[in-house]
Amino acid sequence: MATPLSAAAFESAIRKEGVARITEHTGWTTRNRNHVGAWGPVRGVMLHHTAGRDSVAYCRTGSASLPGPLCIGVISKDGTVHLVGYGRCNHAGPGDLDVLNAVIAETAPPAPNRDDVDGNARFYGFEIENLGNGDDPYPEAQLLATEQVSAAICRAHGWSERSVIGHKEWTTRKIDPSFSMAAMRSRIRARLAAPARGTAPAPAPAPAPAPAPAVRYEPFPGAAFFAIGRVSPIITAMGRRLVAEGCGRYRVGPGPRWTDADRQSYAAWQRKLGFTGADADGIPGRTSWDALRVPNV
Ligand SMILES: [Zn+2]
Repeated sequence: MATPLSAAAFESAIRKEGVARITEHTGWTTRNRNHVGAWGPVRGVMLHHTAGRDSVAYCRTGSASLPGPLCIGVISKDGTVHLVGYGRCNHAGPGDLDVLNAVIAETAPPAPNRDDVDGNARFYGFEIENLGNGDDPYPEAQLLATEQVSAAICRAHGWSERSVIGHKEWTTRKIDPSFSMAAMRSRIRARLAAPARGTAPAPAPAPAPAPAPAVRYEPFPGAAFFAIGRVSPIITAMGRRLVAEGCGRYRVGPGPRWTDADRQSYAAWQRKLGFTGADADGIPGRTSWDALRVPNV
């Protein structure tokens, strides 16, 4: 199946995959280059690095010589996926037909040596914020979001991790992204081996075109934080989210003190996400915590 996902289906897929931070920039669902060329049939996902510009604004609008959008999403250092466009975008340019055929066949791509096919019609494009100089790090939150977005599209189309390539694998004109695509594909393969885990509800759209996320979520404080006797407003905020998700097991509260009712409520949330056994023991883990989206306190 190579008909492009609708914008709504794409957004739903990345939320189900557990992408914790998504900022929707005004009009993203209809910003594209579909009026100047084909969009679809789609064959894969292409990853890039931004090389250090004011990434979100630049990728949304582009320049006179390279009009935006330059991708569907910009993945920033904190793992936020900034949705700036949807459809054909100016990200891939021409590349090697042999590489495209390898992606379609889901075999290892050959080294590119010619630019004879339009990549913008065939690939979902994502820009990952990085200077690309080999020294600038990719934080784990950013790599995780990249893995989740890529896997979400592969899962929706029934593709394997072999359908995800880097720009540098498409054409000799490019060197991005500056991380190992083999390592990223191996993460995507592992993710695709399990069901999608996120159940994140849709947040309100961000006021555009501000690049900053409209809502911040409380970072995972670590499993050891959740011990009898702990008193924190984070626990109240967590409890309110559990109640909102239909997982509240409180007779009173929720309140700031970690209690067995919190643990039972959290266990209900873990079961709702599909965890079982020791993975649903009521002690928060990072995956379920990120999916719960506890407001920052
Ligand atoms: Zn690129």
